[in-house]
Amino acid sequence: MTQFGVSALAIGAHPDDVELFCGGIVIRLGQLGHSVGVADLTRGDKASHGTLAEREVETAAASAVLGIVFRDNLGLPDTELAPTTEQITAVVALLRRRRPELVLAPWHDDRHPDHRAASELVTRAVMLAGVRKFAPQAGDRFVPRQLAYYAGRHRMPPSYIVDTSAAAAGKAKAIACYASQLARRPGDDDPTLISEPTAVAAIEARDRHCGSMIGTSHGEALRLASAMGVVDPIRQLRDNPYWTPHAFEATP
Ligand SMILES: [Zn+2]
Repeated sequence: MTQFGVSALAIGAHPDDVELFCGGIVIRLGQLGHSVGVADLTRGDKASHGTLAEREVETAAASAVLGIVFRDNLGLPDTELAPTTEQITAVVALLRRRRPELVLAPWHDDRHPDHRAASELVTRAVMLAGVRKFAPQAGDRFVPRQLAYYAGRHRMPPSYIVDTSAAAAGKAKAIACYASQLARRPGDDDPTLISEPTAVAAIEARDRHCGSMIGTSHGEALRLASAMGVVDPIRQLRDNPYWTPHAFEATP
């Protein structure tokens, strides 16, 4: 039987990705008593704003708000993520070391090339971590229970919506830790999406929209890589506290 090291591992391309795009789920899992870790693939050293030292202090503060049990950084090259054997092996080593039951990864449809590449990298690594003869120096074979994708800036058809209402205030607090990324400062002539005043409001609006689909104040979507089985579809409906007629769009 496989021994898991942590309930969930949320993987992002850059420090602040997890907070922005699945921070509610990470906090909520902790509230429900699950152990959650975060791994950032790069240090975000090509970020338009803030120094590396500033960002590390901000990431540590945000990690405390998330209530996670560890935060790893693989130190892969910012803006140059790609599914090379070297980078896949680094993610395989991470999975084999941390042994998560559930892996959270970015959805592939995204504006940022690093986010697209991170999705591909993690998808390949989840498969190859279970191949005994792939990179045997990177640890013992390991297979998580499930891989689920979280949405970036683009739409993602959800498999389900996680009720993150009780985590919304914490998510806002964690995002606010990234002051160097969020605030436009004198001399900044290089605005990014996240430094636009409307960016955080857009994330909040998306979470409220997802929540409205299940009749709650806030929610975050997950898209499962593999279909999940159900023992009794009627029991599944009766035990579910959420009322699907709130949905504004069909779930594929
Ligand atoms: Zn990012």
